[in-house]
Amino acid sequence: MHSHHNALGLVTASRPVQPVTLLRPHAARRAARFFVEKFPGKALYAVKANPSPDLIAILWESGITHFDTASIAEIRLVRQIAPEATLCFMHPVKPEEAIREAYFDHGVRTFSLDSLEELDKISRATNGATDLTLCVRIRVSSEHSKLSLAAKFGADPAEMKQLLIATRQVADALGICFHVGSQAMTPAAYSEAMERVRAAIVESGVTVDVVDVGGGFPSVYPGMEPPELEAYFEAIHRSFEDLPVSYSSELWCEPGRALSAEYSSLVVRVERRRGDQLYINDGAYGALFDAAHIGWRFPVVLLREPESEVRDMPFSFYGPTCDDMDHMAGPFMLPADIQPGDYIEIGMLGAYGCAMRTGFNGFGNGARVIVDDEPMASLYIEQDNESALPSNVVKL
Ligand SMILES: *Cc1c(COP(=O)(O)O)cnc(C)c1O
Repeated sequence: MHSHHNALGLVTASRPVQPVTLLRPHAARRAARFFVEKFPGKALYAVKANPSPDLIAILWESGITHFDTASIAEIRLVRQIAPEATLCFMHPVKPEEAIREAYFDHGVRTFSLDSLEELDKISRATNGATDLTLCVRIRVSSEHSKLSLAAKFGADPAEMKQLLIATRQVADALGICFHVGSQAMTPAAYSEAMERVRAAIVESGVTVDVVDVGGGFPSVYPGMEPPELEAYFEAIHRSFEDLPVSYSSELWCEPGRALSAEYSSLVVRVERRRGDQLYINDGAYGALFDAAHIGWRFPVVLLREPESEVRDMPFSFYGPTCDDMDHMAGPFMLPADIQPGDYIEIGMLGAYGCAMRTGFNGFGNGARVIVDDEPMASLYIEQDNESALPSNVVKL
């Protein structure tokens, strides 16, 4: 794979016609080390956030030993890249064939569920295995998060007693898991969810061996500046210490976004300008699904040397396909003299963005290039180092 120091270096050297994904292995390594060293338990990488083989390898080499997978394809993928990794199959609704292959061919022992039907399915598919860690997913509120995960999965608190007691009889180790929704903007999201876990444990009277607080750890985007991650870890640790679980019980989490967001950004070219609308060569069917469909804002910077002296103004983007929905409202703040032929770096696309590319309309196959400058925003760079940040790091 090619490498450059930064996006401007790439653009100056090669004027790419297709969008280019920039990869920052050092940023992914730093995020992984942060979770490995500071989370008061075990951190499983949620593969769906970005299943790039190169990222999985980096996380594994940086000390992430456990992976939260949701499909048999993700299990096969991680198994190939990190044969020694511990894989957990955390989708609450799984095909029986996938459970069977996961258990017998890939050594998966940890599964999640949110219904008695799924418990039966897991028992059947594993021929009544007695070495399972089974995590019952409880529904919790998504009110503090930017993306809800409260509707589709999770047993109702009222169903938890029966489900926990039934699962306890099948499981070697019993867990409770939840997901507070993605991009949780306050640690209170976790403390409040832990109260539901406490109530479920008290009501059912079962011994719980694993408490898995799921994903939802934030990254930083324009208009979304969360408290520091340590505050989340402290709140989780405090709630966990207060739970009526055994001394030997384990605390897990499943970060996706927080481990991958800073890994990638994207270089796009402006193909046309119409007033405050820029037609760029990536969009809703490329890496900008969230920008189009849920109005997510990403940091942007014009890649031009010498830098434009003109003040910024708000722009919206159109992507390259022929679909009206290929529109990103933004606003994206860029110099008012931006022109066709200019290049823009769009930051913080390592989580979900790059994973959700499609080939619709013949677009979507750009190059990938390694860079070694800092991501456009970071939760892992010390605040007091701010004056040392390079010029592409934007103040949000
Ligand atoms: C998506 C998902 C995650 C990762 O969520 P993030 O918000 O990206 O941290 C973790 N666990 C489960 C079960 C998920 O579905």
